Amino acid sequence: MIINGKDLAAGMKARMAVQVAELGRKYGRVPHLVVILVGDDPGSVSYVAGKAKDSEEIGIRNTTIRKPDDIGEQELLVIIAELNAAPAVDGILVQLPLPAHMDADKVIEAIDKDKDVDGFHPANVAALWQKRECMYPCTPKGIIRMLKSAGVEIEGKRAVVVGRSNIVGLPASKMLLDENATVTIAHSRTRNLGEVTREADILVVAIGRPKFIKGDMVKPGAVVIDVGVNRNPETGKLCGDVDFEQCEKVAGIITKVPGGVGPMTRACLMENTIETFLKKAGSK
Ligand code: NDP
Repeated sequence: MIINGKDLAAGMKARMAVQVAELGRKYGRVPHLVVILVGDDPGSVSYVAGKAKDSEEIGIRNTTIRKPDDIGEQELLVIIAELNAAPAVDGILVQLPLPAHMDADKVIEAIDKDKDVDGFHPANVAALWQKRECMYPCTPKGIIRMLKSAGVEIEGKRAVVVGRSNIVGLPASKMLLDENATVTIAHSRTRNLGEVTREADILVVAIGRPKFIKGDMVKPGAVVIDVGVNRNPETGKLCGDVDFEQCEKVAGIITKVPGGVGPMTRACLMENTIETFLKKAGSK
């Protein structure tokens, strides 16, 4: 079985469109997401355009602020401070990566944690690890959503997450743990990776290495979630971290790239924007 992230995300977006229209009627305005893009990295430009398109489809107000890559860090911090103070701004997202002369941690920390729709602010990260109310980061949130919608029971299962980044691997591990999986985190120094991944009932791969996970690294019948977004060096086309052709023959359930985790990440960003709006509306 292939989990179709594109279809799932389309369903989520259709439901959100109805919800946003209702919010507009009830509150006299719709959720507002502001995306800040520094520089013109083609990947970032395309991701930001995708966020604007999703917002438009759902009826969320979207503002994209574009700045040249030589903008000073201080100038960026001032923009963020203004957005933090603006009552009609619900979500703020700074597209990463930032130019090398900027301290990305400092910039993310400057965002009001209640407008941090990416869930990267240290206060949200700490809340996630302490199992308190938090803004869930979009990619792991999308992964859990995909597993549940495919009817995968997570509790009691052996989950292996390959990759330990702050934006995917670590939070995905914690969220699987919170769903009562027994979680192993593997990384570039893990010895005998295949032995580790073959133990997984649920295998989540987020490493950024094209087609790295081969069929013989997967336990027969396992659930395989491929987070990677890479260019296939041979064809130039998008591909995941999992060798789909090999692994689909072994796995019970698998995702595809493109059309898997990516659309779910985007849909969860929209959900987080609505969540920040509702939190503000509820606190009035
Ligand atoms: P990072 O580069 O931040 O982290 C990569 C992780 O993979 C590191 O923990 C690294 O280990 C580990 N790793 C690298 N090589 C190996 C290896 N050979 N064996 C085992 N572990 C390895 O990447 P991200 O987490 O940001 O992204 C991972 C992938 O997911 C990328 O392809 C990215 O484009 C994609 N992505 C997709 C998203 C989506 O929505 N679909 C969202 C975000 C990312 P170590 O810590 O030891 O260096």
